[in-house]
Amino acid sequence: MDVDATENPKLHVLFFPFMGHGHMIPMVDMAKLFAMRGVKTTIVTTPLNVPFISTTIERSKNSGFDIHIKVLNFPCVEAGLPEGCENLDSIPSSQGVNLDMIAKFFKAADMFEQPFEQLIQECKPDCLLVDMFFTWASDIADKYDIPRLMFNGCSFLSLCISDSVNLYEPQKKVKSGSEPFVFPNVPGDIKLTRDQMAVIFTQNEENELTRSVKKWREAELKSYGFIVNSFYELEAAYVDHYRNVIGRKAWHVGPVSLCNRAIEDKLDRGKKPSVDEQKCLSWLDSKLPKSVVYICFGTAVDFNAAQLTEIAFAIEATGQHFIWVVKKEKSNNEEDWLPEGFEERTEGKGIMIRGWAPQVLILDHEAVGAFVTHCGWNSTLECVSAGLPMVTWPVFAEQFYNEKLVTDVLKIGVGVGTKKWKEVVGDFVKRDAIEKAVKEIMVGEKAEEMRSRAKALGEMAKRAVEEGGSSFRDLNDLIQQLSSRRR
Ligand code: UDP
Repeated sequence: MDVDATENPKLHVLFFPFMGHGHMIPMVDMAKLFAMRGVKTTIVTTPLNVPFISTTIERSKNSGFDIHIKVLNFPCVEAGLPEGCENLDSIPSSQGVNLDMIAKFFKAADMFEQPFEQLIQECKPDCLLVDMFFTWASDIADKYDIPRLMFNGCSFLSLCISDSVNLYEPQKKVKSGSEPFVFPNVPGDIKLTRDQMAVIFTQNEENELTRSVKKWREAELKSYGFIVNSFYELEAAYVDHYRNVIGRKAWHVGPVSLCNRAIEDKLDRGKKPSVDEQKCLSWLDSKLPKSVVYICFGTAVDFNAAQLTEIAFAIEATGQHFIWVVKKEKSNNEEDWLPEGFEERTEGKGIMIRGWAPQVLILDHEAVGAFVTHCGWNSTLECVSAGLPMVTWPVFAEQFYNEKLVTDVLKIGVGVGTKKWKEVVGDFVKRDAIEKAVKEIMVGEKAEEMRSRAKALGEMAKRAVEEGGSSFRDLNDLIQQLSSRRR
């Protein structure tokens, strides 16, 4: 494609996040960050995902930034999905994983190739920042000679581990699923068990999923490089290893959530909060600093009733103040899992949010002292940015890798003890283990040490995105490279 720099003097980056909140939230922040540096940015999404991003984009635009949304229709019905199923969040599930629906969702995502190509012809961007799941984007990038940057929402440690798994398959060399092994050629002797990994990594025969993993890998190798929501000081050994030993290009530009300074921006990430933020903030204002535990498991985890009951008993037993986010909507459920009288007994002590919480706003409040998290990378990084320690409760995806970074490398977390990867519902954790981990993160000398390490990391995170900081410089470097490539 012929791009004439005199006709279109501003660098134009096209962002296409996968349609799940864990992917869209950081990519929208990233698009805002690029726009703040004078880059024209366009976010591509589907009609029913527009409401999740339009207010924040409109606000950025009103602040003078060159930021836009382009809409592509999502062929859900053609792919066999119910009408309106345009976000991973809207895939029907009844306690568990709906693998068939997920496969259809990916099939629909594959059908974007042609309309996306038309969009490229129309918009003539200088760079594509496209989610890893859209593997076809690499061919389009090649065809139009536009650099394609990959985003998968993971850490540098995860990128290093993926490389090790691809090359050495250490998980296939242990005798049992519970035998720990070390990932070869990954700094810091990171240990895991096969039970904590996806089944696809343990299978020898080819299937739909192993073929997808292969395609992601091929797209990674063909791409211009990775863009990572992280900062150098957080995982320096893994940034260096990925770049210098594995030898791939990558830029860290995070924590991207820190681009949201105003309360409205912190509120406008993902869905509309299911709680009145003023009420939530005044409740937090009434609590002592570092006295509240925030409990939330991201957008994909959906614990069963028995697990929710265990959490309820455990929180009450800790005696700590809490904000607990439960995905189940009260209107749709009997909530017979909630111990009788729980809300009456914990009145004033805690808040339950049923649905969506304004997570970053809550984490940034000085009354919050720790986060019980499933270790999704966004949540992990938002917690680090707030300078808080965490109770780690990985469920699936690369969450077990993130736990290792938090507990073993950074030493700012206590594990709740999940031993097995179990999609969506998680490995069952008993109340005593939850209570113990929460107490350990909130009280005592060890808690103080973790809190002070977390606080120092939070300060580093903020410095990283300020002018002259490591992420600020990496983003500059990337923008410069893209600009000179265009010239
Ligand atoms: N999130 C939120 N409120 C909620 C649940 C999630 O704001 O009630 C946001 C959270 O701040 C994070 C994202 O959703 O930015 C979840 O991403 P993460 O990688 O932590 O987990 P995933 O949902 O992808 O498993």
